[in-house]
Amino acid sequence: MLRSRRLVNDTSYEFTPCPICGAVAATEVAGADDIRAEVERLWAFQGQRLDGKTPAYRLMDRVVFSQRPPLRLVACDTCAHVYRNPWERRETLERAYQSARESSLVFEQLYRTQQTAFAAQARRLLATAGASGRGLEVGSYVGAFLAAMQRTGWIFEGVDISREAVAFAADHGLRVTLGGIDDVRPARPYDAVVVYNTFEQLYDSAAVLGAARRVLRAGGLLSLRVPNGTFYRRWRARLRGPFAAFAVRVLAHNNLLSFPYRQAFSERSLSVLLDRAGFIPVHIVGDTLVPIADCWTTRLGAVEERCVKWLERLVQRGWHAPWIEVYATRRPDALGDRHAALAAEP
Ligand SMILES: [Zn+2]
Repeated sequence: MLRSRRLVNDTSYEFTPCPICGAVAATEVAGADDIRAEVERLWAFQGQRLDGKTPAYRLMDRVVFSQRPPLRLVACDTCAHVYRNPWERRETLERAYQSARESSLVFEQLYRTQQTAFAAQARRLLATAGASGRGLEVGSYVGAFLAAMQRTGWIFEGVDISREAVAFAADHGLRVTLGGIDDVRPARPYDAVVVYNTFEQLYDSAAVLGAARRVLRAGGLLSLRVPNGTFYRRWRARLRGPFAAFAVRVLAHNNLLSFPYRQAFSERSLSVLLDRAGFIPVHIVGDTLVPIADCWTTRLGAVEERCVKWLERLVQRGWHAPWIEVYATRRPDALGDRHAALAAEP
């Protein structure tokens, strides 16, 4: 779920090897000065497309995300995974998400602006997972995807770390547990687990996939939506040169300018992560970010965003797209699943 939250202070960092393959050798993608220049471009871009009556806090939401901009970004020399190094410690991350505050007006706007995009996402999930079943969304935030799934034959519930978002979703008749995936105790395994626009922010993505595996039935479907690190590297290289103005738009409309994420995936790093966690990829879909224009965006700004994303969806397919949606099935665990089957027998 796309989040738009304000920052909290008190950040502490640690160095890390590649969080996917464990390799230490990495190449710097952007240093502190490069990131600062990206943040300045983002301010200028957002300033242009917001109308004159926009309150200052809404401008802040566009350029200040739950995480501070990275101190430094690197790409793994082995699997091409893009990640912050150093990156924020676990306590810093959890504090940032738990203490972020939003008004119910902002929640309501997000809930409404994301409905069309999530209806399309729900249709894609149904095309792969079947017409009905039970599912869980990790990081369900305001619940726009859960609401979209509720209109299909599926029963979908969520889990989220934000107390306010859980309360907002409950007010809209959605079932959401407060906490992380380890706090979810389903009576029987789910048919699908999805993590959309949240997975790249997690402290330990491998641990979350392990937990997803535990709550999924054998053959159940996992779907993730993650930023494409290879796309980011390709387009940030064009920030200097004849395509600079277009590169700013391509990156900013997809929330990639200034890299407000902990990590972004390459084809190789995503495949290594899924394989190690016991999932078999079925297919991937390249896509743009859900719409970010709202009532504060100028008419021209909203039209421009629609045009850029339409053009991108036309020409940037698969791993050429800014965001990647992957569908994978849970590999049967021969021993574990046999024990579970025996235990279930009368
Ligand atoms: Zn790696």
